[in-house]
Amino acid sequence: MLEIQDLCKSFGDHEVLKGISTTIRKGDVLALIGPSGCGKSTFLRSLNLLEIPTSGHVLFEGTDMTDKSVDINHVREKIGMVFQQFNLFPNMTIKENIMLAPVKLNKMTKEEAEKKAMELLKRIGLSDKADAYPSQLSGGQKQRIAIVRSLAMNPDIILFDEPTSALDPEMVGEVLSVMKELAEDGMTMVVVTHEMGFAREVANRVMFINDGVIQEENTPQEIFEHPQSPRLQEFLSKVL
Ligand code: ADP
Ligand code: MG
Repeated sequence: MLEIQDLCKSFGDHEVLKGISTTIRKGDVLALIGPSGCGKSTFLRSLNLLEIPTSGHVLFEGTDMTDKSVDINHVREKIGMVFQQFNLFPNMTIKENIMLAPVKLNKMTKEEAEKKAMELLKRIGLSDKADAYPSQLSGGQKQRIAIVRSLAMNPDIILFDEPTSALDPEMVGEVLSVMKELAEDGMTMVVVTHEMGFAREVANRVMFINDGVIQEENTPQEIFEHPQSPRLQEFLSKVL
């Protein structure tokens, strides 16, 4: 689904990503771990070109997104994104937040988008919040809405950047369980996370980024039971 070839990204003379290559296949749940500031968000944002790579290529189903002739917005419609700060529009109701992108981008009529929004709300048990405003919801509820909002566009893949980091601890579980259900339904997901339990239990691959490179990439079992590099061993000893 996504092929990343020798991806490099610098900010000024600060080299953040120093040549990252990997392939994300349909149905993969890839957990991205690594120390703060190592470039996890930069990598994730490069996958839908929210960050323009300094060099290298990102191919989405064979289309090189870094090619200037490609309509990037068209490709992005297939790539959902969920952020640490939920980014819901405060002046719109929950239902309107979910309907916005599909209607605006002419993917659905208003009626279709409304039906889809209500289905999605039902799926996460928040039908009764359809006409509420974001400020009336808890952090966990807001993040679950942000997830179904991305689903409203029927994406092929969803990128998550620390989706539970801004939540009070008691709300982390409800968001992770929505993500777990998505994974079980076969959604392709890339998740930057500090939730090692989630990485271990739900991901099929774990990638450890350090110093701008993929230091180690393997199954959760291997990453957590048999970390190879001293850097990963040290990182895990701090977070587990
Ligand atoms: P992580 O998500 O792993 O914590 P980031 O990808 O956010 O790391 O950041 C990696 C490095 O790139 C950091 O040193 C950060 O300060 C720097 N950086 C990120 N975005 C920008 C930007 N827009 N301009 C300048 N430096 C940036
Ligand atoms: Mg980050």
